[in-house]
Amino acid sequence: MHRLVNRLLAAGSVAAVATAFPALAQAQGFRGGTQIKPGEECPAGMTEIRPRTCMAPEKPAPSIVDYRPKSTLKVPGTMNMKAKFPVVDFHGHPSGQLGSVDAIERMGKTLDSLNVRLMIVANNVSGDQLAKGVELVKGTTTMKDRVRFLTGINFNGAGSPEWAAKAVAQLEADAKAGAVGIGEISKGFGLSQKKADGSRLKLNDPSLKPVWDAAARLKLPVFVHTADPQEFFREVDNTNERWLELSLFPDRRYPQDRYPSFEQLMNERDSLFRANPKTTFVTAHLGWHAHDLGRLGKMFDEMPNLNAEMGAVLYDIGRQPRAAHDFFVKYQDRLLFGKDSYQPEEYPYYWRVFETRDDYFDYYRDYHAFWKLYGIDLPDVVLKKIYYQNALRIMPAIPTAGWPK
Ligand SMILES: [Zn+2]
Repeated sequence: MHRLVNRLLAAGSVAAVATAFPALAQAQGFRGGTQIKPGEECPAGMTEIRPRTCMAPEKPAPSIVDYRPKSTLKVPGTMNMKAKFPVVDFHGHPSGQLGSVDAIERMGKTLDSLNVRLMIVANNVSGDQLAKGVELVKGTTTMKDRVRFLTGINFNGAGSPEWAAKAVAQLEADAKAGAVGIGEISKGFGLSQKKADGSRLKLNDPSLKPVWDAAARLKLPVFVHTADPQEFFREVDNTNERWLELSLFPDRRYPQDRYPSFEQLMNERDSLFRANPKTTFVTAHLGWHAHDLGRLGKMFDEMPNLNAEMGAVLYDIGRQPRAAHDFFVKYQDRLLFGKDSYQPEEYPYYWRVFETRDDYFDYYRDYHAFWKLYGIDLPDVVLKKIYYQNALRIMPAIPTAGWPK
């Protein structure tokens, strides 16, 4: 009998053993050896141990939050606190750091330790609030040239020529007060913002056109966050890459009976970009196409007015080091560094992905990615463009003195 068992095992058929000799199989620890057909998946709780043969682990499987394997891989590599070249953070959300002259000076010290030279505050502020921020920055000794503000657009009541005229007047006043761009226009634009008549304000609503024209005239790039990762728009099942995040934060789900689909929002967004070729747009988070860079590349090819910011999608850049390297080199004039959430200890992960050829290192947030990252090893000429040169180019109101050539 042993010879038969061995022959079956050699043929890779643990399930055949389990079926033919259930007692022996159990004694040898084959748990629930089950055969599946080509293309089928193993039943829940089992994994494919040989082609088309499934087995359950002997120990109870840990949950995905408790499984924390320690990598045994020994490869060189380190995390540097400072970026190799000075950086513009185009997608800044400091808030507790902007309340006073002292707080701004303190933020400067932290930014120095990271080599972030210019913080663009993308907090969507306009009017008095914007003027107050600009005033505080002017009152500092070390930070005068190191913080700039984007202005906001208040979409409440949008849909009429009166609203548009008011919004344009506000943009003009804010540009005069020192705003260097517009944004971050939040994901509510498209997902939930309503028009005065109660209908959903579409991104490409023609009544907004005067505002985009004004942005072009005032040379203010428009920084817009549209939708959210594609996985947030579908069922939270075991095949969803963002299962953990969506389970931790149920308000990030967009059930399709209550929200427009991801593709519908992308179509509206692209039609907005196409219809306003003179306006410079920056799509936040690589347009949520970091997992499909070919798609973003096609957009860049088609729309010369489009740029993209790379905040909070490092998990997708760092898992495709060769494809991302080639993409960043090819579209080096269209990409801007941005961090989004202000967490100083997280910036060095970006430097490591962009600047090194390090293998298989941890990302800073488990719930974004259960995988490791790799350095994409960008050449200096590309690093300088994504770190500061592209930002300086699209925001002519920022002084260019003092940046390296
Ligand atoms: Zn943001």
